[in-house]
Amino acid sequence: MKIALIAHDKKKADMIQFVIAYKAILEKHELYATGTTGLRIHEATGLPIHRFQSGPLGGDQEIGAMIAQNKMDMVIFFRDPLTAQPHEPDVSALIRLCDVYSIPLATNMGTAEILIKGLERGDFAWRKIINEKQGE
Ligand code: PGA
Repeated sequence: MKIALIAHDKKKADMIQFVIAYKAILEKHELYATGTTGLRIHEATGLPIHRFQSGPLGGDQEIGAMIAQNKMDMVIFFRDPLTAQPHEPDVSALIRLCDVYSIPLATNMGTAEILIKGLERGDFAWRKIINEKQGE
């Protein structure tokens, strides 16, 4: 499954802890991230990860484009709800596209842990059916 990992600056430490904690599950999947988040995760864990542009430079939109093509299976997006972001419209657009395409989305650690445990348990097998239909 293709999983996108994004964390705003004040949430990057949380994201790294999260990926370290669930590395055994995440390493079985294809990981994507915005630029800085991906670099920090790779440095901390050594996991291969496809990096897009940094969020404020269009990375959120690049991940959004994959969602619009139904090519992303899960999004884990640790937003910072207490800091104004220059690319707030992109953040809203990404969340909106997850809702348009029913893509599982976690915006905080509590939900992310449930999604990852569900992923391990096979709760998202329905995404495989969609991917097979698309010939992926
Ligand atoms: P970054 O982007 O991983 O490049 O910091 C995340 C964001 O701010 O959307």
